[in-house]
Amino acid sequence: MMAQNQRLEQHRFIPSGKQGGLLARYEEIIGKKAVDELREYREGFSGRRIIHVNSTFVGGGVAEILRREVPLANELGITTEWYRIKGNEEFFETTKGFHNALQGRMLDDPASLIARYHDFYQNGGGTLNRPLIDFLGNLSREDVVIIHDPQPLYLIHHMKQSEALKLWRIHIDTTTPDPHTMSFVVDQATHYDGIISTMHEYVKPHLNGYRNIYMLAPSIDPFSDKNRTMLTGEVRGRITRFGIQTDRPLLVQVSRLDPWKDPCGVIDVFETIRGYGRDCHLALVYNSADDDPEGAAMEEMVKKYRDRSPYREDIHLVIGDDPLDVNAFQRHAAVVIQKSIREGFGLTVTEALFKEAPTVVNGVGGITLQVLDGSTGFSVKPYRVDRKARAICAEEYGRHVDEFARTCIRAMDSREDSAKIGKRGREAVVEKFLATSKLKNLLDIILDCGADGAH
Ligand code: UDP
Repeated sequence: MMAQNQRLEQHRFIPSGKQGGLLARYEEIIGKKAVDELREYREGFSGRRIIHVNSTFVGGGVAEILRREVPLANELGITTEWYRIKGNEEFFETTKGFHNALQGRMLDDPASLIARYHDFYQNGGGTLNRPLIDFLGNLSREDVVIIHDPQPLYLIHHMKQSEALKLWRIHIDTTTPDPHTMSFVVDQATHYDGIISTMHEYVKPHLNGYRNIYMLAPSIDPFSDKNRTMLTGEVRGRITRFGIQTDRPLLVQVSRLDPWKDPCGVIDVFETIRGYGRDCHLALVYNSADDDPEGAAMEEMVKKYRDRSPYREDIHLVIGDDPLDVNAFQRHAAVVIQKSIREGFGLTVTEALFKEAPTVVNGVGGITLQVLDGSTGFSVKPYRVDRKARAICAEEYGRHVDEFARTCIRAMDSREDSAKIGKRGREAVVEKFLATSKLKNLLDIILDCGADGAH
């Protein structure tokens, strides 16, 4: 048991033709010139290796990004590997607490959370991750380590001897973090050679005097099962397999069940739309990341919320483990909703825009990089929440839900406008949020951060 637990856990990609030929396929979308430009990086990275470390190979945005960018970099000839740290249930509960606190939830006792995090690394976690710690500690000057999010952040203390370039990439919206938690995170993060965040606003105010801050949005892979073209018959077949009729307008939100994704708020919006006499049904498509212990309790809560609804028969809770199902729901949707209260970026939005789906969002965080109201989608003004993701003012929340519902109706009704907006949404994604352009940005960051020889 021990021997198995102590293996170095590297993500292995399917070594079939499925992964190869990626660049040639991208050429069809982004053009030969852009792909040739990307190929030029190979020389600059000769003899170097990029190592990503996060906490899960499955579920959530980070895994989605790495699943694309790692094989793409390898095909380019830049050796890139992906490892995960291991943790126990308590550790993931702690780091989920970190995630929530950084995202805005005020903690009653941040010190105990921080103590538990420390404790993990100083005790069991150190042993559990010994192979990874040894591996990272012995990297050479040519290597580049990219540590993702707070779970493996602390590993910096085990890499002090290593001359590798060390970057920390944070995917969380830290506009209004719990100050204690943020200050602890900043203390660790500033040991890195560079910090990468999705938006300047997230980290800049907390990192006074720290130089190497970089911005990098995530990306999607247009050829993955999640995003590849699907024929209408295939789409319908997938939807009906869940017992959902395809002849009525379907509203869809694809998201982990998490308070910050506001699944109950989506149900409120749906009920309001039905209250306006509009026939439609709703699918909440969700999966759970294996580093998200809150998922099960939230699932229970959302089910209860659904069951008290007069429209419960029309609210479908769908497990979105199969990317082709997610793809089908996003394509079939009359409206894709993303009602997140906080959102680091929101890959689900990128995926919906790429499919030209009429998309109605709460205008927060990284979503605002993607949805420009009336141009690439429909954006609704957010309502204010407290540190526990609850509305501060019931009246304001009521107005917000009503506006959200009316915006969904508008997106369903004005088909011509929605089609134009959908096209622009896709164009924006092709230009800015495909894996190729983000990989290029990342390689530039590495070259820039490594250039001063400071590491
Ligand atoms: N996702 C999925 N199935 C689901 C729910 C989500 O495959 O049932 C995927 C979704 O398509 C997206 C990712 O998980 O690619 C979620 O990324 P996002 O940035 O939207 O949110 P995060 O979970 O990282 O907060």
